[in-house]
Amino acid sequence: MELRCAGQFCEADTPMSFSDFHGNSEIVNRLREMLARDHFPHAVVLAGSQGCGKYTLAVMLAQAMNCLSPIATNGLPDFCGKCANCTRTAEGRDLDERFAQAVEARENLAEADKKETRIFVQTHPDVLVIPPDPPQMMIKVDQVRRVIETIYYRPAEGRERIYIFTDSAVMKEAANALLKVLEEPPEFATIFLLTENPGELLPTIRSRSMVFTLCALSPEEIEKDLAKQRPEWKPSHRALVARLSEGAVGKARSFDLAAYTAARDHALAILHSALRGGEHSELFKITESYRPGAEGREKTEALIRTLYSLLRDLVFIESGAPELIRNSDISTELKRLSESADFEWISVASDRLAEVERGMRRNLLRSLSLDAFAAALEK
Ligand SMILES: [Zn+2]
Repeated sequence: MELRCAGQFCEADTPMSFSDFHGNSEIVNRLREMLARDHFPHAVVLAGSQGCGKYTLAVMLAQAMNCLSPIATNGLPDFCGKCANCTRTAEGRDLDERFAQAVEARENLAEADKKETRIFVQTHPDVLVIPPDPPQMMIKVDQVRRVIETIYYRPAEGRERIYIFTDSAVMKEAANALLKVLEEPPEFATIFLLTENPGELLPTIRSRSMVFTLCALSPEEIEKDLAKQRPEWKPSHRALVARLSEGAVGKARSFDLAAYTAARDHALAILHSALRGGEHSELFKITESYRPGAEGREKTEALIRTLYSLLRDLVFIESGAPELIRNSDISTELKRLSESADFEWISVASDRLAEVERGMRRNLLRSLSLDAFAAALEK
């Protein structure tokens, strides 16, 4: 049994050609050249950090392989983005959402069926996306069996059968089954294996695949992409997100700016109060809003991450390297803060913050340990 989900096709955010893929143009061009020469490998490993575009690129290649009105751009094969094969394949682009839908559909099944149902995302009959199956979040042997059952049939509506494994956490039995397919893939099938760490894949799987590693983009490249994708953000916020997303354009595009700035406002208030003293009621109002429980935990974790990122920026300023700070949109405020902080204070603050983290793991009342943190940092 399998679950398929067919979502709403949204034209507005659907890429219409490879020119919508940002960065790594050398790798993209090499893959397109192989398409042009009809020498595309049967197994391709796309490696790179989270959000670097592995899945987006695999979907684009699937579109190019099966496009009904294929075009050429810059002398290389491209896809039209409009034909039935392109649009239906593109429906699988929002992997997180499709995955959540498939998981929810399984949750609604009867107990007996639930056990035998594996998670797949399929919006086109010739393109099967295989995500890690919860709760273990591993690729399971039943998922690979589904690949084996279908891969030897000629494509139904395109020229190529395409399988996209979105993660390299593969259970051992599943990896061995996958290896069998890779030994004798049919002429008309392509398997994409996406991974953050190619070392996680069996060496025998790697050796049967062609590995391409997508590199992180520079903050400037990401800023350029955000100018197109997030025109509603202020330029200073786009610069901030570009620095916080560590070269991953996907991470940058889906960055929750409102949540980040909310956490940062609190973090700044805590640092101000610690470094400059004065009125405490404001601070207590903030720390009080961090409650125990799952939601409070997430909020506190976000606050702690933000505090660390501010402390790191203060170190950069103290070290005379203000150009390295990530919270570039509030550099003036950080410079002012740094006037009352020195290396010693920053290092004590980091230690105390680590204590708060440990306290959270022991499940202490969140607001209490945050109060203690703020008090302990006072000069
Ligand atoms: Zn097309």
